[in-house]
Amino acid sequence: MKRITILGATGSIGQNTIDLIDRSPDDFQTVALTGGHNVEQLAADARRLGAQLAVTAHEDRLQDLRDLLAGTGVEAAAGHKALLEAASRPADLVMSGIVGAAGLEPGLEAVRTGATLALANKESLVCAGPLLLARARASGATILPVDSEHSAIFQALVGEDTADIERVIITASGGAFRDWPLDKLKTASLAEASAHPNWDMGQRITIDSATLFNKAMELIEAKELFGLSSAQIEVVIHPESLIHALVGFRDGGLMAHVGPPDMRHAIGYALNWPDRRHLPVERLDLVKIGRMTFRDPDEARHPALRLSRDVIDAGGLAGAVFNAAKERALDGFIDGGLGFLQMAEVVEETLDRLMPEAAPMVDMSLDDVLAMDAKARRVAGEIIAAL
Ligand code: NDP
Ligand code: MG
Repeated sequence: MKRITILGATGSIGQNTIDLIDRSPDDFQTVALTGGHNVEQLAADARRLGAQLAVTAHEDRLQDLRDLLAGTGVEAAAGHKALLEAASRPADLVMSGIVGAAGLEPGLEAVRTGATLALANKESLVCAGPLLLARARASGATILPVDSEHSAIFQALVGEDTADIERVIITASGGAFRDWPLDKLKTASLAEASAHPNWDMGQRITIDSATLFNKAMELIEAKELFGLSSAQIEVVIHPESLIHALVGFRDGGLMAHVGPPDMRHAIGYALNWPDRRHLPVERLDLVKIGRMTFRDPDEARHPALRLSRDVIDAGGLAGAVFNAAKERALDGFIDGGLGFLQMAEVVEETLDRLMPEAAPMVDMSLDDVLAMDAKARRVAGEIIAAL
């Protein structure tokens, strides 16, 4: 039986994780669940799974959470400190499913205790990869990728020597606008950007898929997890989303990971690791699929990939600038003040202004990351205001 904590339990990753736990109740014991605004879902899951602790990120939702959990024996708490407390309660596995840089500190706490971190929150690796990995090395914690492409690479590397990797190829669905002409993209609406053709995910990552910022972050994630240079990481548009990633070895062999676009595979792989157990995902019928297609991404339409390669080459706090500027620009698009294509303009301009300050460093501290994150959000806000 594994003791498990789920950070971001009310989100898309969190709910898929809970779906798998519900199907194997004898394999998991729930320690803590955290959420944000959706305290109704949080309380229902905490009660059903018999969690010790339920935490909402928002203090103003605490009374509702307490009322919903009255008489159940589940502790209720709220706020930043309570999130860190949830992440550091003794557990075997912590699912990091909060969206955005808000997932960094709880993830660091989990790793500090030595728990295995099932990492969906790619922003932690983008803004502070070296810090997270150093903390894991210090405590002996294992980090298991949950992002489907990185889970695919991780699985293709079982039994292999990473020194033999020549390249990895990460596939991209192309997102909601993969077939739209460039001039139409300017006026793409929030509703249109929030509808993914293949994957059912949270709103922010769905919009990031349409701008290819999600893929751009995944390049940085791959660099951090597998120690690759930007030249070793390729991206190919694969509209069917059946091959998630491929690893090319020095002898020319190419290992592909193939599966349906269902996050429960990558989540379940991490939950059961190092074992493989039955998972309720569709079994692919290759003859029915018939063919799979691939094409180059159009980097002129989507500067995100080019920007992320610059960030990888720069190192240091460049990832913190990139992630914070992207999150601020995405807020602007969701709030309605910023156009779809302007998101990339804001990120590029923020990087231009702050890159000279984001030099590589020997030891990256949390304070360094948080200070650069705050600064980049401020600068991106000024750029947006001046547009
Ligand atoms: P969702 O928006 O669906 O869920 C986010 C979760 O985080 C919710 O539980 C939400 O609470 C909580 N949350 C939001 N803001 C905060 C905050 N400031 N502090 C604490 N908790 C907060 O996101 P996804 O599940 O789609 O994504 C989660 C992470 O996983 C992201 O990093 C994403 O990039 C990554 N990922 C997701 C995939 C997917 O299939 N969805 C695939 C691969 C990676 P509430 O909703 O209650 O407000
Ligand atoms: Mg992915």
